[in-house]
Amino acid sequence: MVVKAVRGFSDILPEEILTWRKVEEEARRVLEAFGFREIRIPVLERTELFARSIGGETDIVQKEMYSFLDRGGDSVTLRPEATASIARAYIEHRLYSRDPEVRLYFIGPMFRYERPQKGRLRQFHQINAEVFGVAHPMVDAEVMALLVLLLSRCGLTEHELQINSLGCPRCREGFRETLKAFLEERTRKLCQDCLRRKERNPLRVFDCKVKGCQEVMEEAPLLEDHLCDECKDHFLQVRSYLEELKVPYSVNPRMVRGLDYYTKTAFEVVAKGLGAQKAVAAGGRYDNLIAELGGPEVPGIGFAIGVERLLLVIPSLPPPPPPLLFIATLGDEAERIAFRWCYELKASGITAAMDHRRRSLKSQLRRADKLEIPYVAIIGEEEISSGKVILRDMRQGSQQNIPLDTFVQEIRERLGPSVHEAL
Ligand SMILES: [Zn+2]
Ligand SMILES: [Zn+2]
Repeated sequence: MVVKAVRGFSDILPEEILTWRKVEEEARRVLEAFGFREIRIPVLERTELFARSIGGETDIVQKEMYSFLDRGGDSVTLRPEATASIARAYIEHRLYSRDPEVRLYFIGPMFRYERPQKGRLRQFHQINAEVFGVAHPMVDAEVMALLVLLLSRCGLTEHELQINSLGCPRCREGFRETLKAFLEERTRKLCQDCLRRKERNPLRVFDCKVKGCQEVMEEAPLLEDHLCDECKDHFLQVRSYLEELKVPYSVNPRMVRGLDYYTKTAFEVVAKGLGAQKAVAAGGRYDNLIAELGGPEVPGIGFAIGVERLLLVIPSLPPPPPPLLFIATLGDEAERIAFRWCYELKASGITAAMDHRRRSLKSQLRRADKLEIPYVAIIGEEEISSGKVILRDMRQGSQQNIPLDTFVQEIRERLGPSVHEAL
């Protein structure tokens, strides 16, 4: 029996790779221009890190983590998201001691045990950006602006930035009681999960996908009416700085995030045409996370882009190009010469290919044609004795002779990088 990939874990094949790379390259370009530096975090962390940061009542921690005991008996988890790990690294390596403001980004896979469907895998990829050390609302606006910029550079045209304020623990405390009282009167309409959420973390009910719960929440009191003065002022300033940068946005007062560490600003970028999984990126401020994980009192803000979801709504690039040159051979000596030429050309960056299966000239040419290789050279005994090799331009239908003893040099000149790029 053939062994297949684990459900929800997928291969990214060569024909898809250029679109992936474009997204990653645009991300690096934009983020580095905005002062972010790359960090690489491990795939595996202590389970405790996520339970403490993401929150014990969240779906992620309750149902979706890949946690297991390692051989030493420690509970470890494949990272379900990156912010907690990046925050851990920030604290562990005392990155705050070098500069009060630290900007980090990370690109890599995350793992959640969810029901696999289109745009949602168990191993999925994120681009993460985090700013530590600045509480100023300008940074909230800048982070959202650069996210929108980055998504448009990747080719996302129809999207909307939605923002909300989740308040601070102070204003949320009062609101939680108000919301709890509201839910208490409507328990008949709530699902089992929300009955539990109502007790431990009633804000989570806003996130429930069950229709009955959503109907209840349409009439629910909103956090924006319960924000403390500081949070209210922060939100107003964030909005005014977004306007300063001319970034269109809308306020979604029912947006909560699936992670407990967010405070004040929360945001999502929603793409048209993604159905129920509309958000391609999301993030927010987390002013207490670093302290809660045992670090200093340092505010933070960041976002994650879901790469698979983004790829569903941006144009895909064609597969990588075929080799530039195919060398067809006839006879042992020709084969040996072509072998050396291919090596020398590839070593200088010109993609060259030949056949190693001793096929007829006709079938070698058929293969080159099928792969749509633009240039074909033919070498056999005749060419070796006359000292001339035929080079065919398959698109133009023309051909010319190239001296055998300067073949590699000539090809480098004719098909070097500039020709390569033009194709
Ligand atoms: Zn507040
Ligand atoms: Zn519910």
